[in-house]
Amino acid sequence: MPTSKFFSFLSLSLSLLFPLGTHAQFGTTPTNLTTGFVNFANGPKQVTWFYNQNNLVSYEGDIIFGTEEEFNEALINITYTSGPGELPVVTKRRSYPPSLDRIDVRSNSIHPHSSNLWPGGQVFYRYFDDDTEKRISSIVEAAKNIWKDAIPCLTFSKVANDNNIHGSNGIVTIRVNEKPLNMCQASQIGFHTNSLWMLLDDPGCGLREVTHEWGHLLGLIHELKRPDAPALDPFICSNVRGYPFGKATTAEADAECCGLPQKCPLPPGDHCCGLACQFTVECGDYNSQDDGPNGGTFDFNSIMLYRKREFGDGKVTLPNSPEELPFPPSSEDFNRIRELYGCLPPKCPVGCNPASGANTCSFPTAQDCVFPSPHISNPRAACACRAGFKATAPGISDTDTTKQWRLPADEGNFRVWVTQGVACDTLCDVSTGVDSCKEVVELPADCLHN
Ligand SMILES: [Zn+2]
Repeated sequence: MPTSKFFSFLSLSLSLLFPLGTHAQFGTTPTNLTTGFVNFANGPKQVTWFYNQNNLVSYEGDIIFGTEEEFNEALINITYTSGPGELPVVTKRRSYPPSLDRIDVRSNSIHPHSSNLWPGGQVFYRYFDDDTEKRISSIVEAAKNIWKDAIPCLTFSKVANDNNIHGSNGIVTIRVNEKPLNMCQASQIGFHTNSLWMLLDDPGCGLREVTHEWGHLLGLIHELKRPDAPALDPFICSNVRGYPFGKATTAEADAECCGLPQKCPLPPGDHCCGLACQFTVECGDYNSQDDGPNGGTFDFNSIMLYRKREFGDGKVTLPNSPEELPFPPSSEDFNRIRELYGCLPPKCPVGCNPASGANTCSFPTAQDCVFPSPHISNPRAACACRAGFKATAPGISDTDTTKQWRLPADEGNFRVWVTQGVACDTLCDVSTGVDSCKEVVELPADCLHN
């Protein structure tokens, strides 16, 4: 059965079993907002946050930073507050927003091999207590299984329930809001830096919302934070609640609060206020998560979108976005997680046909089209270089696996294989013995067969 059909069947069956949700990630737009600079693992960012019950701090609507203590540790300064009764007030407390240069440094962010990913793709979670587990585990598990079934290299491990209000670093504690918040929330990925949470309303948070929340916990940030989002789905700042954010004129609000120009790199300093910060692009965090060319493009089918009227109190803030979150996750959502955890299927080069006259392997340096492992089922043939030689330079790099590669072949992994038409006449750095040609990338065993 083709994968896509399987998923639509799966999601249809699940949506018959579970409600998709009676409200969204933030059915009620959060109030009592504060904007400022906060230290994240990959550098300071200007975000807007609010305090929710249970001693936790959230930003971007549904992403939990951590406990108040953890947040206060990371807080650098405050640039804006929305006051009592939601009258916006601009504060001047500690007015030295840091340079944003570091945001472009991908040192410790949510990219493949980041230390902020779940080590080994193993996700640990627990419920706050047994009653919580009884109330919401069926929907939490169903949402978890949507990711797990699509991405077999992830494992989810349930550990003993624990009602420690400080939570745990490295274990997601799943809680029900004692007083419904009309919100479903979860921590963004941050494996070892903060306590990790999922906070749900019961009833209220359905399969769609909880699946989105697992998306955050696995490493996805909102699609609208992508650097290419403003070009494809520009937000209407004047429809965001709180506009003009206490500024004297709309021109001033547009200039100082709407994050313009919406492109990377961000201008240094303070550039957004209140809920407009939720739409500010995030530089350096997204491109490498995609498997598409040039980092993929903005995905209108992503479960990590904002909705058309997000943060607008009924007014349209994103004309090109859907009224409701897409469900189930898109193939690109799944591929992003696969890429983060190193479980994309390998991209194997096209093989050759060993039959006489049926291939164009380069004569005379790589003329033999042979099976590197002839006895496996459905073997894939490739043009063999002489041992100790690699593709003729210049013009073909050692890492260009569309042109040349090594394989864990039956004879060993010392030989270089090339695509049809590529000559093979450059001596490898080491040209004899089992350590030959190690500078050429070795592809996994999956590429030995079709
Ligand atoms: Zn979200």
